[in-house]
Amino acid sequence: MSRAVVALGSNLGDRLTYLRGAVAGLRRLGTVISISSVYETEPVGGPDQGRYLNAAVVIDTELSPRTLLEELLAIEKRADRVRQVRWGPRTLDLDIITHGDSEVADPDLTVPHPHAHARAFVLAPVAEIAPNARLANGQTAMEALHSVDRSGIFKWSGYWLDGPPRLGWISPAFVGVQFVLFLAFSAIAVFTGDFAPTPLRYGVGLVFAGAGGWLVVGALMKLGVNLSALPDPRPGGSLAESGVFGVVRHPIYGGLVLGGVGAAIILGTWWPVPVLGALVGLFWFKSGYEERALTLVYPDYPAYAERVRRRFIPFVL
Ligand code: ATP
Ligand code: MG
Ligand code: MG
Repeated sequence: MSRAVVALGSNLGDRLTYLRGAVAGLRRLGTVISISSVYETEPVGGPDQGRYLNAAVVIDTELSPRTLLEELLAIEKRADRVRQVRWGPRTLDLDIITHGDSEVADPDLTVPHPHAHARAFVLAPVAEIAPNARLANGQTAMEALHSVDRSGIFKWSGYWLDGPPRLGWISPAFVGVQFVLFLAFSAIAVFTGDFAPTPLRYGVGLVFAGAGGWLVVGALMKLGVNLSALPDPRPGGSLAESGVFGVVRHPIYGGLVLGGVGAAIILGTWWPVPVLGALVGLFWFKSGYEERALTLVYPDYPAYAERVRRRFIPFVL
């Protein structure tokens, strides 16, 4: 019986489902001891390609390194893996990182994995569940992780086998900052505003506020119970692509911004505008994370984003 560490990677199609399938396949090869979090990583080397999901699994197995490799290649094959370009996009990559104390240096199999110690996308998940795994350069996984560039590695929170991974502490942080900015905007607008607008200000302001209201109400009607202030997708929800979501991808944020502009015009005050700018920045950042999370759950999201190009305001932003 040997304790092996297997690295998982996917950057094509329904990445999360491929990784889950790989874990199911690994369970038939021995006893799965631990499963890392899932990490989203920028592709390294190879052609221009999409972001990877990476994870690692520790497994106790009776299989030799060679037999384990054959089984891993079989799992890859069942996951529609097609080898075209070296280091090119793939539905599933399963690599043996370590296998007990085994050392193998065959043409088609090297254990410990010859590149693992230099790859943050392997080391981050491996160090999480097997920090003491001894790598090809003699370092442990944890030591190696501290000596590589870890930028471009994003760790998703939570258990991902039977539900979507989550953003973790980032979610409530976004909501908190958002709340403070709403409050600041309202207070500044009320204290600096002129509550007797000219007809022109009133008219122009109402056009903005009306457009914003249309986006918000349209989105609320579409989302219904799937509405959430948190940027994580609701489990069991579905992707809204039509109605106002066919116009912009984040109509509520767009509507709130337009409403804020309308209010500032009606009240004839410039003072809350910087806060509104900060809010736009926050929405931009938050919706970026939201889109990452949505892409995990709905692999077609990038195609939708290609079709509906504006995030907040039709033709503008
Ligand atoms: P890299 O090995 O640099 O991560 P890769 O995973 O993209 O590259 P693949 O196309 O998945 O490469 O595999 C090519 C071959 O690598 C496999 O068919 C296998 O024979 C060989 N190989 C050698 N050592 C290992 C190992 N430790 N784990 C998995 N495959 C290995
Ligand atoms: Mg690989
Ligand atoms: Mg491989």
